[in-house]
Amino acid sequence: MYDPQPSASHYIDGAYVEDNTGTPIPVIYPATGEVIATLHAATPAVIDAALAAAEIAQKQWARVTPRERGRVLTRAAQIMRARNRELSVLETRDTGKPLQETLVADATSGADALEYFGGVANGLTGEHIPLGDDWVYTIREALGVCVGIGAWNYPTQIACWKAAPALACGNAMVFKPSETTPLCALKIAEILTEAGAPAGLFNVVQGMGAVGAALVTDPRVAKVSLTGSVPTGRKVYAAAAEQMKHVTMELGGKSPLVIFDDADLDNAVGGAINGNFYSSGQVCSNGTRVFVQKGIKEVFLARLAERLKNAVIGDPLDEATSFGPMVSDRQMQIVQGYIEKGKAEGARLVSGGGRVDRDGFYLEPTVFADVTDDMTIAREEIFGPVMAVLDFDTEAEAIARANATEYGLSAGVFTRDLSRGHRVIGQLRAGSCFINSYNDAPVEAPFGGVKASGVGRENSKAALDHWSQLKSVYVRMGDVEAAF
Ligand code: NDP
Repeated sequence: MYDPQPSASHYIDGAYVEDNTGTPIPVIYPATGEVIATLHAATPAVIDAALAAAEIAQKQWARVTPRERGRVLTRAAQIMRARNRELSVLETRDTGKPLQETLVADATSGADALEYFGGVANGLTGEHIPLGDDWVYTIREALGVCVGIGAWNYPTQIACWKAAPALACGNAMVFKPSETTPLCALKIAEILTEAGAPAGLFNVVQGMGAVGAALVTDPRVAKVSLTGSVPTGRKVYAAAAEQMKHVTMELGGKSPLVIFDDADLDNAVGGAINGNFYSSGQVCSNGTRVFVQKGIKEVFLARLAERLKNAVIGDPLDEATSFGPMVSDRQMQIVQGYIEKGKAEGARLVSGGGRVDRDGFYLEPTVFADVTDDMTIAREEIFGPVMAVLDFDTEAEAIARANATEYGLSAGVFTRDLSRGHRVIGQLRAGSCFINSYNDAPVEAPFGGVKASGVGRENSKAALDHWSQLKSVYVRMGDVEAAF
């Protein structure tokens, strides 16, 4: 077993850095509750060193050809793939997510992003706009020093989804992981250095919200990309706006999954399971409001209950385990509070609802039926393994109710009628949508939300617009005409 304790808390200017005067951050393995590492929050001196290193590295890196920048990212992707098991074990210990998941969804997804943007870097060109004798050309420029701030559910993936396009475009980054899962981003920094990234290009500083806030408000920072909750998003967006910084906000959701009575039942149940119980439900895009057309409601619930019996709840490091603990005691308690509210407000508990009888922060996969739109569990993001099943009669009703939320991250539809599938998805107000599937997130597809769920897009070519800016240059070939 690899020792999860890093040699120091931060990674700055190409090397591990410690400052023991920072507030201690214990790293707790969610499957047992034991402390597996202790890090320290960044002090002002550490934050300053990271930003200073990034500023120097960025100026040099922006002058490197996009092809060479891409080569570094591609090499980093190869190293990540070669070390997938080691990185996956670390991700499992950091988050508690089953190794069965982390082996295929975390370092691999991070490597996909590095590989994709490593390739896309070659296409970072401007355009030529002819204007008769004159012309305009555009230059796609880096933004400068960018800050990434991560949530705790996908620490490796979030770091890579931000770093890969940022670095491809010629920026440098200072990344702050969630204090709950501080370990994985350090490995990304190590790997980028090994792949040839110059010192200071990708730095990791640890800490709570205050460290994030210090980074966001520093005048050396040109852009902030946050993955987190809506309340944090509001604060960070407002702070960034003070200095007119660029932002990307990947925030929470309460996404609808609409299942029509002509849907393939097993596929729909599978989609609902993927959209509620993967990573113990700690996924921003989850389809936690499952609208099931009345005709198939009971058969859907019966099939779901059968399939839930197949969940293997246990030691996340055992590859047979398919359902692990919540990330922390605190998150478990938040989710338990929602389960109690669901019961108190009259929802019908169909499955789960309690703790699993073992050490660690385990909750059973939980399903409520007969949920109504006004119930707390249908309105608020729970971020745990709690599915709310609501029933509906007509397509128009399902669309109206699905859209009646402040969020707009994702939406899904299950139906055999493909015209209806496209028609309904076209009317659902969400950024990342699915027809007869749920929660796929290939790097080729833009990812992000509308309404309170966020601003900007990660992944795909669309991300380049959020990590670069265009300079336009008007070139006059003749004489300048002036009024006097
Ligand atoms: P939080 O919003 O609590 O925290 C997100 C990050 O922001 C953490 O690193 C946190 O630090 C930091 N932070 C907190 N306050 C500030 C501040 N004032 N200034 C700068 N940074 C700050 O989210 P969670 O970590 O609890 O993650 C869960 C949330 O993330 C859910 O709402 C989920 O939907 C969302 N999410 C969205 C995704 C998306 O792509 N749309 C993907 C994954 C999750 P610390 O926690 O260390 O104090």
